[in-house]
Amino acid sequence: MSVPTLTLNDGTKIPQLGLGVWKMPDDEAPGIILSALNAGYRHIDTAAAYGNEAGVGRGIAQSDVPREEIFVTSKLWNDRQGFDEALRAFDETMGKLGFDYLDLYLIHWPMPHRDRYVESWKALIRLREEGRIRTIGVSNFLPDHLERLIDETGEAPAINQIELHPCFQQASQRQVHAKLGIATECWSPLGQGEALSDPILTEIASRYGKSAAQVILRWQVQLGLVTIPKSANHDRMRENISIFDFELTEAEMAQIKGLDSADGRIGPDPATADF
Ligand code: NAD
Repeated sequence: MSVPTLTLNDGTKIPQLGLGVWKMPDDEAPGIILSALNAGYRHIDTAAAYGNEAGVGRGIAQSDVPREEIFVTSKLWNDRQGFDEALRAFDETMGKLGFDYLDLYLIHWPMPHRDRYVESWKALIRLREEGRIRTIGVSNFLPDHLERLIDETGEAPAINQIELHPCFQQASQRQVHAKLGIATECWSPLGQGEALSDPILTEIASRYGKSAAQVILRWQVQLGLVTIPKSANHDRMRENISIFDFELTEAEMAQIKGLDSADGRIGPDPATADF
């Protein structure tokens, strides 16, 4: 069963489930990408900061799947923000990936104290207008950062990639996205593995002969989110993409909603993050 796509605010279609490749060594990336494409993945989420863009690009080049059938995201790292610097960083990313266009480019973190994200956003708009990127977005942007981008450039991001898993569900941030026409993409969608032993999730999973990981990913897809679980293991990759043959009930969706926790965040707080 193929992965459904979500239509973004500029008409671009993104597969709702992709493979995250954070912490994947560059030399192992080609084999893992080939394995993911074999399992049916057509969406890969990398970043300059992951140090594996070259390996991701090699894997895609080696595969029989045409480049235009694969949706690839990369991200601008914090120390490359600013208009001219972002343009240079994008060229480096493209050199490593070996592509002539990118599907989605994100500003990785807002870094509000450095105050360069509006200039970086203008560079992304320029690159999209030049046809070098199909669609542009941000990651870890809080509502005030999103509103400032829109106020100063008139352009809302197509997507905001944020930490989102059962223990940290980001309901109010998702409402802001819906109001602004921005799609929500979940990073660490499995809570980096921590959520997988939750008894509510394992109980729901047992009803369908599925795993807790599959229930979480299915919950995100049913909420209309984009999700990018990471695995380097072929069986787990297959497991994570095999979520389009069952449906959670409203009662089960409500049970999972109950797992949210105000202090469930795993990663840094974007308001104060500095790295
Ligand atoms: P994740 O929530 O995807 O969890 C990955 C962990 O879960 C791994 O240890 C993996 O072995 C395990 N796992 C995966 N599938 C499993 C299964 N079926 N059963 C049991 N265990 C399983 O964590 P992540 O890698 O932090 O996040 C996913 C992706 O999100 C990253 O690879 C990256 O692409 C992206 N990301 C983005 C940001 C950002 O700031 N934009 C931050 C973190 C991660």
